[in-house]
Amino acid sequence: MSGFEQYFSKRIRGLQPYTPGFQPPPSAELIKLNTNENPYPPSPRSLEAIRELLDARLRRYPPPQWDHLRNTLARAYGTKAEQIFCGNGSDEILALAFRCFTDPGDRVLLTDPTYSLYPVLAALAGVSCRTVPTRDGDFSVPFDALAAEGERIAFIANPNAPTGRLEALPPLSAFVNDFPGVVIVDEAYIDFADHPEKATALNLIEQHPNLLVTRTFSKAFSLCGLRVGYAFGQAHLIDALLRAKDSYNLDLLAQAGAAAAIADMDWMRQQADKVRRTRKNSARELETRGFTVLPSQANFLFVRHKTRDAREMHQALAARHIHVRHFPLPGLDNYLRISIGSDQEMEALFRTLDEVLA
Ligand SMILES: *Cc1c(COP(=O)(O)O)cnc(C)c1O
Repeated sequence: MSGFEQYFSKRIRGLQPYTPGFQPPPSAELIKLNTNENPYPPSPRSLEAIRELLDARLRRYPPPQWDHLRNTLARAYGTKAEQIFCGNGSDEILALAFRCFTDPGDRVLLTDPTYSLYPVLAALAGVSCRTVPTRDGDFSVPFDALAAEGERIAFIANPNAPTGRLEALPPLSAFVNDFPGVVIVDEAYIDFADHPEKATALNLIEQHPNLLVTRTFSKAFSLCGLRVGYAFGQAHLIDALLRAKDSYNLDLLAQAGAAAAIADMDWMRQQADKVRRTRKNSARELETRGFTVLPSQANFLFVRHKTRDAREMHQALAARHIHVRHFPLPGLDNYLRISIGSDQEMEALFRTLDEVLA
């Protein structure tokens, strides 16, 4: 970089920033299966709630503690409002967790692979990472090998990204019990699991004073663009997050749109059902084309081809206007992560793969 890095903090000078998936200009004619966005629209009631607020009320600051959204969430999930935090995307909640639960020089615990934002947030907070590899073959989390060595936070994405693998609750709960710091279970994809209400760690918060469960409106609720995430935990954890947040971290439209989406939960469940059906069919279609498909409980498939190079397939698809995700990292570079699109989009993918593989 230029000589102007002298102005930067050491943390920023050394930072390897997060690499988001390619975002094309909105007009472009292409099939976008690279960032796990939902192919179906958000609830019409959510859009109506946002439109309904587009007037002079925007002159005022929004509710700092998102009262209506928080109460709507509490009713829908059967928790107390004090057990809920709302953030500008779950990414903001993850960043706040570093501010609340670590000091510079501390260490956190990650699995590998997992959501690649965690190490970036750690570097920004001046915190180091201990990374435990998942098991060869199935990418399962070796909970028995995760014994803490003084880490302040452990991050478990469940279902995990980019693998789509879902871990069962009993070993997870035992791990939370033994871990001396805060465990963050990132459930960005939980609504795509076959049985979300059985798979969620939300059922464990009463039992564990050190468990924070994060969720997002981005994936199953089709509201990436609104930037709303939420978290469940015992009130003392939520209090810490409240102390550290910006006064008005969620804008008025986001609060209203998110609350209306929760009040129309059936809409989300119907779209998630369609995604689950397409996921199942797509796995079969990919297998007949020579791919090994990891079992997924998320809205994407993590696949490798038995003979073909992932990077080349990724480029060949992109040249034909179909974007999937390839991670040029050791252990992952033979795989493609394919978000579940509409049935039409997936059929276009299979036709194009037939061309590319021919
Ligand atoms: C998409 C994703 C998020 C980010 O969600 P936002 O609410 O859009 O910030 C968090 N965790 C994982 C594992 C994700 O894949």
